[in-house]
Amino acid sequence: MPHRGLPLHWRILVGLIVGAAAGLLGGSLLPPEADGKANASLLWAARNVAEPLGQIFLRLIFMVVVPLVFCALVLGIAGIGDVRRLGRMGLRTLLLTVGLSATSVAIALLLTNSLRPGARLPEAKRAELRGRYAAEAETPMAQARKSKTTRDALLDIIPRNPLQEMVGALDGSSPGGGMLAVMFFAMVFGVAVTVAPQRTAPLVSVLEGLYDALMVIIGWAMRLAPIGVAGLMFSLTALLGWDILRTLGWYVATVLAGLAIHLLGVYSLATSVFARMSPARFFGRITEAMLTAFATSSSNATLPTSLRVAEKDLGLRREVAGFVLTVGSTANQNGTALYEGVTVLFLAQVFGVDLTIVQQITVALMCVLAGIGTAGVPGGSLPLVVLVLQTVGIPGESVGIILGVDRLLDMCRTTLNVTGDLAVAACVDRAESGGR
Ligand code: ASP
Repeated sequence: MPHRGLPLHWRILVGLIVGAAAGLLGGSLLPPEADGKANASLLWAARNVAEPLGQIFLRLIFMVVVPLVFCALVLGIAGIGDVRRLGRMGLRTLLLTVGLSATSVAIALLLTNSLRPGARLPEAKRAELRGRYAAEAETPMAQARKSKTTRDALLDIIPRNPLQEMVGALDGSSPGGGMLAVMFFAMVFGVAVTVAPQRTAPLVSVLEGLYDALMVIIGWAMRLAPIGVAGLMFSLTALLGWDILRTLGWYVATVLAGLAIHLLGVYSLATSVFARMSPARFFGRITEAMLTAFATSSSNATLPTSLRVAEKDLGLRREVAGFVLTVGSTANQNGTALYEGVTVLFLAQVFGVDLTIVQQITVALMCVLAGIGTAGVPGGSLPLVVLVLQTVGIPGESVGIILGVDRLLDMCRTTLNVTGDLAVAACVDRAESGGR
C-alpha cells in the first residue's frame, strides 16, 4: 500500500518501541501494590486504554480469518490444479513444495522443543499472562485437556457439517476438527473445482473477488498496526517488565536460527542435488530477489524481480520459471510454515500448554497447509497463526505477544519464501531439461 511519510514497517517499529518504553517506564515509576501485584492505575491504563487499542487491530484481522482460509485454500489448490494439466512439471513442483514445507516445519518443531524459548519466562509471569487471557483461554484450554484419541482426532479432520465447524472454529466450540476440518473441506472443494474447470470458472472469479476484498480489509487493519502494536506492547511490558522482552528475544533468535538452517542447509542441499548448481553460485545470483523480498516482506510483490532473476541470472527457461514462481509465490512458503511452527509452540510454552504428540503433528500439518494458504503479502500469515493457535487450545489473542517483532521476522521469512521458490524453479528446470 502506498504511503506518504514514514513507511509502514518503520511506523510499526516506532509503535513497538514507544509502547514498550512507555510500559517499562510506567512499571518502574508506579510502584507495585502491597500484595506484589502491578500498580492499580497502571493496570487500569493497560486494561482500558492500551489493550482496547490493540484489540481493535486484532479483531479486524480475526474478522477475516475463516472466509480467508477458505478462499485462499480453494484458490491455492485450484492454482496447483492447473499444475496437474501441466503434468510432470506440476507434480515435481508439488512434491518439492510439500517436501520442503514439511522439512521447514520439522526444523521449527525440533528447534523450539529443544531451545524452549517460551519456557524462559519466569513461572510467576506466565501465570499472570494466563490470568489475563483466562476468559478466552478457558474453552479451548479445557478442550485441549480433554485430548482426543488419535483415531477420533484423525476422523474429526473430515467434517460432518463444515458450516458448523466454521462457526466454532475461532472459539474452540466446533463439534469436530475445527479449523483443520474447515481446511479439509476447502481442500476437497478446491480439488473438485479443478476437476470441472470450465463450469466452475465463475465460482473461481467470485472467490477471487472475495479474496481481494478480504485483502483490502487486512490492509486497513495493517494501517492501524502501529497504534495497535504500541497498545499491545504497553500492556505487556507494563505488567511483565523486562522478562517479556528477554523471552521475545529468545523467540526471535529461534525463528532466525530455523530460517538460517533452512536457507543455508536445506536449499544448498536441494540445489546441489536436484539442480546440480553450487550453492555459492545459486545464492550469488539471486541476491537481488532476496533483497527485494527482505525489503518488501511480500512474495507477491517480489514476483516480477524473481521472474527476471530466474531468467537472466539463473538462466532458467521462461515457461518453467513463469509457472513455478507464480504458483510458488503463494503456495510455496517454507519460511512462513517454519515461522508458524515456532510461533505456535512458543506461545504454547508461554501459556504452559503441553502439546501432545498428536497436537504437535496437527500443528505441523496445519503449518504445511498454512504455507500453501498464506497470501504472499506483508503479515499474510497472521490470520493463519491465529487459527493454528485456536486449534490447539491457545487463545488467538495471544498472537499480540509477538506482533511487535513480527515485521522483522516477516522480512526474514519472506526472503526464505522467495529463495525457496527460486530453488524449486531451478530444480524443476534441471529435471525438465533431462539433466542438460
Ligand atoms: N509476508 C509473507 C510473504 O509474502 C507471508 C507471511 O508469512 O506473512 O511471503
